[in-house]
Amino acid sequence: MTGGISKHPKGVGRQPAIASSGAIAHLRLAFLAPLTGASALLLGLWTITIYMHERDMIESEVARTQMMVEKMYHDHIEHDARVLGAAMAVISRDAAMKTALARGDRAALLNLSAPLDADFRKRFGITHFYFSGPDRVNLLRAHQPERHGDAINRFTTREAERTGSTAYGVELGPLGTLTLRLVTPWYEDKDQRRLIGYVELGMEIDHVLGRVQGFTGTAALVLVAKKYLRRADWESGMRMLGRNPEWDRFPDVVLSSGTPETMSTELVDRLASAVPGGVEKTSRAQTDFRVVFISLTDASGRDVGRMAVLINVSPHLASARRAVSLSIAGGALVVSVLIGFFYLLAGRIGRRIAQDEAELQQLATRDGLTGLYNRRMFHTLLTQELSHAQRFSRAVSLLMLDIDHFKRVNDTHGHQAGDTVLKGLSELLNRQARAIDHVCRYGGEEITIILPEIDFAAAVNVAERLRAAVEMQLFDVGGGKSIHITVSIGVASWPAQADSGEALIANADAAMYTAKQRGRNQVCCYQPADTQSIDVTTSAVTVTEKEA
Ligand code: GH3
Ligand code: MG
Ligand code: MG
Repeated sequence: MTGGISKHPKGVGRQPAIASSGAIAHLRLAFLAPLTGASALLLGLWTITIYMHERDMIESEVARTQMMVEKMYHDHIEHDARVLGAAMAVISRDAAMKTALARGDRAALLNLSAPLDADFRKRFGITHFYFSGPDRVNLLRAHQPERHGDAINRFTTREAERTGSTAYGVELGPLGTLTLRLVTPWYEDKDQRRLIGYVELGMEIDHVLGRVQGFTGTAALVLVAKKYLRRADWESGMRMLGRNPEWDRFPDVVLSSGTPETMSTELVDRLASAVPGGVEKTSRAQTDFRVVFISLTDASGRDVGRMAVLINVSPHLASARRAVSLSIAGGALVVSVLIGFFYLLAGRIGRRIAQDEAELQQLATRDGLTGLYNRRMFHTLLTQELSHAQRFSRAVSLLMLDIDHFKRVNDTHGHQAGDTVLKGLSELLNRQARAIDHVCRYGGEEITIILPEIDFAAAVNVAERLRAAVEMQLFDVGGGKSIHITVSIGVASWPAQADSGEALIANADAAMYTAKQRGRNQVCCYQPADTQSIDVTTSAVTVTEKEA
């Protein structure tokens, strides 16, 4: 007889270590899979939100700059028109000039206007200074005296003629340059009855472009619609300015003469071909730009061209990228901490569950006092062993063991001592049993032992050894005292003496009862007799009888 009690009999018990690690892995998966999925989803949404927010910031920054540039352009035109108006007010007070214009005296007009022209040019950037007759025929260009005698048919002059008062606005010149012009009709008298001619002041608005460039810190260029230009005039004008005229470079526009020469051909091409009114994304030497267009309207309300302005969005993009990376890194950190926390928590909960399960298992299957399998478990185990035996045509034996005169032990030494004896007996039986045997507490002081793969003859031997071992053992009853006890054991085997579990139990029980009747401290076996009675085999199966 070897080994101790099989704590976890085959097919019934569990292996807590493996079971708990499997359960923990399962629990972790159950916790972490949705957490990780949800976190990834949230992190993704969060990143997209930040990215979209940053992108919106960039777009609104671009829109704001566009609005400011537009306002700047119009404010400058307004301001320049006021400068022209102020200069005009000064000239209008010059009676000598008025008389000279009324007389059509070119020489006198030139004399009077030349110093003013130089002064205006220098101080206010006024580049055009015209005198024309009431018929709009040019009498003198103070800034270009050799050209005169042509009729001035520009919108501003005709508007001054039509309304009889000052008109101003941006006019497109033959070279594609935009000039702000202010035309005032001059009258001989205060009542404005006799018109003596028109005085016109003008300034190129290229400097507005310069200001816009200064404001945005990047390039801007002006594109003029071809349909308002005459190709021959434009080309000869460009040649006169020492530039190479490229009329066919773009389908519907030409570059204004004010285009900065520092801009790369590639960039100019991209800017010129971008869709007007839209926002073009362009990248140059690791700098990201947005291009916005401001449409240029002349005095008569025609869309004569557009200004393309580059807005540097690199800093915004860099900050957007930084924000996105930071949010991803921060989010990933938080998620990792969360996952780590839940990983550990799931481990703890899993271990606790496994422990509780093991305790429950223990409570459900074991007897509290002796640690032996309880009666319920005994039935389960017996059923299992019988079906196993049936399947493999093996024997199963059952020992029914009862302590002799146990009541006396209780009565003499106390109930607690009885408990101690019961525990000691259980330990002894467990020690004596094989690993595959099942020692169970069947009732108060009745113990059953299932012996798988043991036939009747071998079982009687086992029973006898157990009986002898109990008889030899001293059991502690407290107070430094020890006692001997004896047991009576009934033996029955399947299939030799029973055809079912119930019969096996009943027969083992009956055999045990016979042992009691026969004087206790002995092993009796169930004899399937034709007479249906219980008999005790003695010498044939080595049943030993001893005095109680
Ligand atoms: P017999 O030889 O005929 O078996 O005599 P017995 O005294 O052992 O039998 P009986 O059935 O008269 O009494 C059994 C006793 O076992 C009665 C009860 O007090 C005792 N007993 C049953 N369970 C326990 C237990 O858990 N602890 C203690 N201390 N005694 C128990
Ligand atoms: Mg008893
Ligand atoms: Mg009893």
